[in-house]
Amino acid sequence: MEKIQVDIAIVGGGIAGLWALNVLKARGFSVALLEKTSLGGGQTVCSQGIIHGGMKYALTGSLTKDAQELIGVPDLWRQCLQNKDTITKDASVAANIADGMLDLTATKILAEGQYLFSTGSLATNISSFFASKTLRSAVESLPRAQYPAMLQNAAYKGQVYKLAELVLDVPSLVHNLAQLCWDNIIKVDFCSAHYAPDNNIDHLQLRINGEQQMLTAQQYVFLAGSGNQELLHAAHGGSHGDNNVPKLQLRPLHMVYVKAPGLTPLYAHCIGLSATPRITITTHVAHGGCPVWYLGGALAEDGVAREQEQQIAFAQQELSQLFPWLDLTNAQWGSLRIDRAEALRVDGKKPTAATLFTYANVNVGWPTKLAFSPLLARQISAKITAAGTIPGGSVGGVLAEFAKPEIAKYPWD
Ligand code: FAD
Repeated sequence: MEKIQVDIAIVGGGIAGLWALNVLKARGFSVALLEKTSLGGGQTVCSQGIIHGGMKYALTGSLTKDAQELIGVPDLWRQCLQNKDTITKDASVAANIADGMLDLTATKILAEGQYLFSTGSLATNISSFFASKTLRSAVESLPRAQYPAMLQNAAYKGQVYKLAELVLDVPSLVHNLAQLCWDNIIKVDFCSAHYAPDNNIDHLQLRINGEQQMLTAQQYVFLAGSGNQELLHAAHGGSHGDNNVPKLQLRPLHMVYVKAPGLTPLYAHCIGLSATPRITITTHVAHGGCPVWYLGGALAEDGVAREQEQQIAFAQQELSQLFPWLDLTNAQWGSLRIDRAEALRVDGKKPTAATLFTYANVNVGWPTKLAFSPLLARQISAKITAAGTIPGGSVGGVLAEFAKPEIAKYPWD
């Protein structure tokens, strides 16, 4: 059995693992990221790619102090995506990266903003949302001439607002992040954690290309989404009796996608009577060039109880009510079930920010949103420093020789 030794081992190659890898590597640590399927192939590539900035929490009335900080998140991403010069202006490139500011200029931006639209007069929750001073600047009421093409039809009677929240092409984001640290990424067939009696991890047991390997590190970072639970299972003899051991909650969704040549780009939340948007629509391009609408929001949350056929029929009905002028006769429909993996909060509520737990030499995190991954990476970096981890030198050349995972494709591809 071969033994690999690094300063930090990250398990999970979704957005959270890839962002943390870049930040920790820039701080001089030797880091290995282990992924068992494809990069982004968990929740990341199934996400709608929206860079939230707190609007969602304002709508649900839970704009707490934590969530208010999230209002700055889209700006942080904008700097990474568009303005490489700003990133490198006042400090060294490495210092900027170590602070979570990565060069994402190779990531495709699908939309600079999204629309909020209503089917009639705006519901009360929207009015209270606009009353929030902090958010008013992020929202712009639009004259009819500036409505998106899909809502220009004379039959559309509602109102439209524009939100300054970006939408990204997620596979290109994953590719961008992986390219920056390709040598440090390893495709594993299997990965499990072996704990010492004091709950420190002793080593990770890996199978790479059919061969058993053992990996040891000073610190272990689990960013494996729903896979975190299995990695933690061996701690405390699998009992989880200790309240300090983090627990996971899964929130199932039933998303729908529709592929049709006549679809015009739309990035929008349809606001109904409840706090969750009735439907959230993002537009993507399938392999071969056909546009795809990806449908989430309450449609996906409530649709968990529906079988695939019923869910697609429900989505068809929703779209025909919202856009009666849209002809989807020859469209191709599909749906997918996917769980959101988040930390279980003591009060049972949904987390509104990234969550990181640290015990012994183990760090376990969930970004909660793709958008909050830079904030989670900063938290991880601070914890690793606080633990007194010392950079032990580069092993990049050794890691580069291992097999690499593929970049995940969109679910409809
Ligand atoms: P994941 O993307 O799930 O990655 C975990 C990785 O760990 C996987 O690749 C998995 O293969 C790997 N893994 C697991 N176990 C092991 C193991 N033992 N060994 C090795 N590897 C392992 N957020 C937003 O900000 N905007 C959105 O628009 C948005 N839309 C969403 C839509 C949907 C349908 C869903 C489900 C989520 C959405 N989110 C959105 C949330 C966002 O997708 C997640 O918060 C984020 O992608 C989580 O990233 P992650 O890296 O923690 O986990």
